[in-house]
Formats: sequence, C-alpha cells, structure tokens
Amino acid sequence: MKEQIEQLQEKALSDLQQAADLKALQDVRVQVLGKKGALTEVMKGMRDLAPEERPVVGSLVNTLKDQFEARFAARQAELQQQAIADKLASEKIDVTLPGRRAVSGSKHPVTLVTEEIVDIFSRLGFMVEQGPEIEQDFYNFEALNIPKDHPARDMQDTFYITDDLVLRTHTSPVQIRAMMKHKPPLRIIAPGTVYRRDSDLTHSPMFHQIEGFLVDEKVTFGDLKGILTHFLREFFGEGLGVRFRPSFFPFTEPSAEVDIECVICGGEGCRVCSKTGWLEILGCGMIDPAVFGSVDYDTEKYSGFAFGMGLERIAMLKYGVGDLRLFFENDLRFLKQF
Ligand SMILES: [Zn+2]
Repeated sequence: MKEQIEQLQEKALSDLQQAADLKALQDVRVQVLGKKGALTEVMKGMRDLAPEERPVVGSLVNTLKDQFEARFAARQAELQQQAIADKLASEKIDVTLPGRRAVSGSKHPVTLVTEEIVDIFSRLGFMVEQGPEIEQDFYNFEALNIPKDHPARDMQDTFYITDDLVLRTHTSPVQIRAMMKHKPPLRIIAPGTVYRRDSDLTHSPMFHQIEGFLVDEKVTFGDLKGILTHFLREFFGEGLGVRFRPSFFPFTEPSAEVDIECVICGGEGCRVCSKTGWLEILGCGMIDPAVFGSVDYDTEKYSGFAFGMGLERIAMLKYGVGDLRLFFENDLRFLKQF
C-alpha cells in the first residue's frame, strides 16, 4: 500500500509539472482527486486495512494530498503568468513597422487649371466672386443685352426650369450680380459650372467657365490686351504668340476672340490647330454700355472689359488631353496622372 502511494505521488507531481496549460492542469487534478481519481481510490481501499495500519496510511495520504495541492497552486500561478505573457507578446504593437498609407486623392485637372488662373489674376488684384447655377432669365440674358430673339436663348441651347429660371448657360450673370452689389472700381474673376443642351465629342452638357472683368475710369482696349497677354504668357509660357481677332458678343462692344500660338506644334500646324498654327482660347471685349445701363453705372464716367473661357479646353491644351469626356468619367487611371 505504501509503495502504491509513493508511486502515485511521483506520477501525480510529475504530471502537474508537465501540464502545458491551465486546462491540462485541471485534468491532472481530476485524475488524482476527482470522484474516480487515483487518490480517492486509495482512500476507499483503506476500509480493508488492519486498524493499526490505517493511521500510517492515512498520514501518507494526507501528506500526498497537501503536497499535491501546494504544487497544483504553484503550477497554476505559473501557467496563468505564462498565459498573460503570451497574450501580451502576441498583441504587441511593433512601432517600427511601416504604417499603412492612407490613399489620398489628387486634384482634378479642371480644378488645377482653375486654381492656377485664379492665382495669376489674384496677383493682378482680381477678387473671386461666385453666383447661383440656377439663374433668373434677367441675369443670364436680359441684363447682358441678350435680346429675346437671340439664338443663345433657343431651347436647343438652354435648359429651362420655368419660363423665368434656367440652368445658367455661362458665368456672365456673375458680372451683373457683382456690379449690382459693388460700386467701381472692380476687378473680379468668377469660375463656375455652366450648362448647355449639347453633348458630343467636343461638348458636354455640363462644363466649366471662368469669367473675368474690370471696371474703372478710363479703361481702354489697350488695358484688356495687356492684361490678357500677360495672363496667357504666365499660363502657357514666356514669349507665346497671342493675337486678337474682331468678333461679336451681345454684352461687349467692340468684341474680340483671342488666339494663341498652337502649344502642341509651336505654330508649325498640326491636327489640333487644324494646320493653322493658332488655337482659339477665349472671348473678350469692352463691356457694352447697355450692360452698364442694366446695373445703373454711369457710362460717361466708367468703362471696363470682360473675358471668358472654357476651363476644359484650357486643361486639354495645358495637359495635352485629346478627349473631353475623360474629364467627366472619373477614371482613376486618368486622374492619377495629374
Ligand atoms: Zn498645332
């Protein structure tokens, strides 16, 4: 009996030490002290012993039990510590690892050219003004000297919301709103979205324009030429060829179209400039006295000029983009190049 207890003791303590985790440790405890455990069996067998042997064996069993419990508690504490250490090690943050880079977008090419144009005119003292995209007939047409029978008012070109409300067809209504709000001298640049019922390879029903105008005493066509030539050379490059051609707009008199030397072929003649060596880039002119009449400016005292251009066209020429539709498809492969 004594030998059996000693063997049991040796095995039980060795099992405790080898238990690899808390679960295995509990299993060892059940194997020894559980209802059908090895030590429990020994204690049951004590009934068959002679009375004088019982205290000796009882003492051995108690010693084993105490020893087992003590070793169990020690091993349990050890395994708990180890579990915490493992958890800390597996959840540790390695601050030396490179971070996950947040993907940031880039500016749209139309935004880029708008910002560059606004920047050039800001240095010449121009302020940015904006106006509503849903516009009254008065601001979009009437006040700009566009009579009722003008082709620009045709249903083919204009999105009408009601008889009196349209999606603005140009940024020029900002001119009227700004002139009604402020007294001269004025230097204003107005970028914005405009709408026309037109959609093909070179036209989109929604596109962007930038409008600029200056009103002061004694403003001449010479000032207009000087400022626009300065702008075009700042934007497209020093020494760029620029020419003014007579044209017609209802809201300016006299009016001109401005051409620049083709930036693709350098004036040699190519497909983009239709072999002429020149590219039409913007429209401009001296503000018509009839427009000043709509905003109650003294036409004897003040004069001014205005100009406007399509921003998609400018961006196409600046970045050599061949298809207008690329600007509206928002294909990342295209947008990432800017
Ligand atoms: Zn060319």
